[in-house]
Amino acid sequence: MSTQNMQPIPLLMEVLAFQPVKGCFSLDDTQISRQPVTHRQKVESRLASPYSSILPVILHTRQFISQPSQVPNFQCDCACPDDGFSLSAPQPFTMQNIPLHHPFLHTQPLTDDYRLMFNPYHDQGVAVLNSAAQQLWQQFQQPRHLHDVVQTYPERDITTDVQSLFQLGLLQPVGYQPQPRKAAPKVLNTWIHVTNECNLRCDYCYINKTDDDMPADVGRAAVDAILRSAIQHGFQQVKLKFAGGEATLNLKRVFDIHTYATDQAHEKGLHLDTVVLSNGVSIGERAIEEFERRGIRVSISLDGIGADHDAQRQFKNGKGSFAWVNRTLDRLLARGIKPFISITLSNRNADGLADVIQYVVDRDLPFNINFFRDNECATSHTDLKLMDDKIIEAMQHAFAVLEANLPERSLLGSLVDRAQFNAPHDKTCSVGDSYLVIDHKGNIAKCQMEIERPITSIYADDPLAFIRSDRLGIQNISVEEKEGCRSCEWKYWCTGGCAALTYRATGRYDVKSPNCRIYKALYPEMLRLEGLRLLKLASKQLVA
Ligand code: SF4
Ligand code: SF4
Repeated sequence: MSTQNMQPIPLLMEVLAFQPVKGCFSLDDTQISRQPVTHRQKVESRLASPYSSILPVILHTRQFISQPSQVPNFQCDCACPDDGFSLSAPQPFTMQNIPLHHPFLHTQPLTDDYRLMFNPYHDQGVAVLNSAAQQLWQQFQQPRHLHDVVQTYPERDITTDVQSLFQLGLLQPVGYQPQPRKAAPKVLNTWIHVTNECNLRCDYCYINKTDDDMPADVGRAAVDAILRSAIQHGFQQVKLKFAGGEATLNLKRVFDIHTYATDQAHEKGLHLDTVVLSNGVSIGERAIEEFERRGIRVSISLDGIGADHDAQRQFKNGKGSFAWVNRTLDRLLARGIKPFISITLSNRNADGLADVIQYVVDRDLPFNINFFRDNECATSHTDLKLMDDKIIEAMQHAFAVLEANLPERSLLGSLVDRAQFNAPHDKTCSVGDSYLVIDHKGNIAKCQMEIERPITSIYADDPLAFIRSDRLGIQNISVEEKEGCRSCEWKYWCTGGCAALTYRATGRYDVKSPNCRIYKALYPEMLRLEGLRLLKLASKQLVA
């Protein structure tokens, strides 16, 4: 992978090493306690130091997460997990007699001076170290006590730098075994199928379309059911995804449900998040105005530019839909609205992936890349099936586009299918835990791909309880139970892929994804992009 386009990072970037980490711990000779590092004091003293030219620089993903809008994957088409867990060493941690050493790490060079480091059994994400920081880190190749290493740097105090390496999981106490500490999910995700009708006939769609819409009374009863379960299970937030079919063909119902849900959620003290999932074909100015006024976010499917999109997303008459989608995107952008772009990658449109990535980065649009999932409706379209080498190559071309146009937002949660590298977790999605898929008749299934196999309905006292106790539909098991995944270094970030896809391909839920080879080839390259993004952001911050 070429690094020749990278600009040299200015020496002054060293100051970035002292930006306090969220939830940062300060370390002294005896213990780690919850004391934020005083940024200004550290910067001033470092800048005054005669040794400033050899000071360690340590950048990390969390350093640059400052606004909620930067959280990746906020419009995931699936039931994205939000119950990531903690893998840091327990605090407070007594340091007096426990030496530190290197844990298992994924590392790779980014430039001549900077190296990426990532501990897959920790929760702090990607870190980037300059040569001086790498030299300090090397001091712990064999287990060493902090005070021994401090003595080898008589000219300056390196305690804070060791603290950063420890916090980021690049050093760990001898004998430490990471133990995941799971948090309860906070968001109840829902799919509301406002219509079963669609104006497109996409070749990979899993919905058996009809002309049926969701009636008004079903829409309101669906909201009641969602909120009942949310309260009974202690959720703080509910997310409604208006879907179908094509949700914008029944906007009256979307807005009616939105009004009712807003009132009811407010009354019950729940936070409400809403998004409409659309094919983008027929969203007019008035609809855009209304989405904006109501705060409903928009997610648009776009699988390529021109013929690449048209090849798999056509109208009923077989004509391609790109021109219509492109017009809608122009309309949204003209109003300052940035929709989320959902890209479905198949073998058929793989050659055009780099072009659609160029399109979205040119417009600074958030996006994710979903891999085609085989299903009963799509089974005759054999050319959609993923061929490992072709998909890897297409993704590498897309990565090259991203490397030349690194966005400010992190791509760790949206680049490689269902992998989420923004927080460790053990399940690929929230199916069976915190996800309700409500069809237009009020039946409730576990996953949109199983919408025709409902488990319960909106008239149950607590629909989520039925979903959680079901043992017949999709079994969304932990990665620890998947054969082939248990000893994989990526297990807490990949979690073995989509359960529906794996079952269709293998007849089992407890095995690794059929896309495993693709994933393993791409994860290191995705991390590399994140490392380069951190270097770019650090440079930009200094210039500002
Ligand atoms: S599917 Fe493959 S890459 Fe993913 S966790 Fe399992 S073994 Fe690892
Ligand atoms: S089981 Fe697969 S298709 Fe269904 S929500 Fe989860 S990741 Fe998506």
